[in-house]
Amino acid sequence: MSDSPQTPSFAALDRVGFPSFDPGTVWLVGAGPGAPGLLTLLGYHALTRADAVIYDALVGTEILQWVPQGALLEYAGKRGGKPSAHQSDISTRLVDLARAGKRVLRLKGGDPFMFGRGGEECQTLAAAGVPFRIVPGITAGIGGVGYTGIPVTHRDTNHSVLFLTGHDSSGTVPAGVDWAAVATAAPVLVMYMAVKNLPAIAEKLMDGGRTPDDAVAVVSHATLPEQSVVDSTLGAVGELAAAGALTTPAIVVVGPTVSLRADVGRYVEQMGIGDVG
Ligand code: SAH
Repeated sequence: MSDSPQTPSFAALDRVGFPSFDPGTVWLVGAGPGAPGLLTLLGYHALTRADAVIYDALVGTEILQWVPQGALLEYAGKRGGKPSAHQSDISTRLVDLARAGKRVLRLKGGDPFMFGRGGEECQTLAAAGVPFRIVPGITAGIGGVGYTGIPVTHRDTNHSVLFLTGHDSSGTVPAGVDWAAVATAAPVLVMYMAVKNLPAIAEKLMDGGRTPDDAVAVVSHATLPEQSVVDSTLGAVGELAAAGALTTPAIVVVGPTVSLRADVGRYVEQMGIGDVG
């Protein structure tokens, strides 16, 4: 078996009973947080068979090497200040390509159903009668954060964890979030897309009962060579964000498991898995 990028064989995978990727169907595949090894085997299987791949901004570029030569490769994300493609346009494109008889692979960063609009695309596909499959991925807020030595749960500290997004479709702090309730709902909060609004979010969490010395870690470019971690506190992190000191994309983790990185992260680093900052 060769693992050369030019000739991805993974031949033994062909003997695994993977579902067949049929023409005229759409597979929504989670690419994981970035490092190519974090794509699932089913995702890899599908990627090497796709006729059309529509991918998002946070998909690790190395993963795209497995798209077959001659396959249609389309970018559907936001980059370089340009506005992102409209969600309805992307969903319509998936339907059109499937109806043209393609094996359509919709490749999304992390997991398609974690703040990934996978649900919206599935609704459109379902309404159009296009068969589709979900291939889950490793989400940045669990696996990406875990790469730095921060577990999102630990029996000594938390029996629950809360995932939230720090901005809504208009880019502002989501009005639909009850911040006072969130502040105390779970010891550990994992926040996606939260850097821009972090000054306001940190204030709301403290207003809701979190203390200023709550540990915070900001994990940027998780699992990629440029991965970095900034350690802070709820009282101080808003200022760091406002000063532009935090790199995106980033996950912001609040709560006691952040401090475990001091023990766990050291060994992660020794194993050479990643730069733990
Ligand atoms: N579906 C994705 C999340 C998409 S929302 C998932 O499951 O991971 C985009 C947000 O995800 C980014 O703003 C950032 O908060 C987070 N994110 C994605 N990839 C990341 C990475 N490699 N490192 C840190 N944060 C990441």
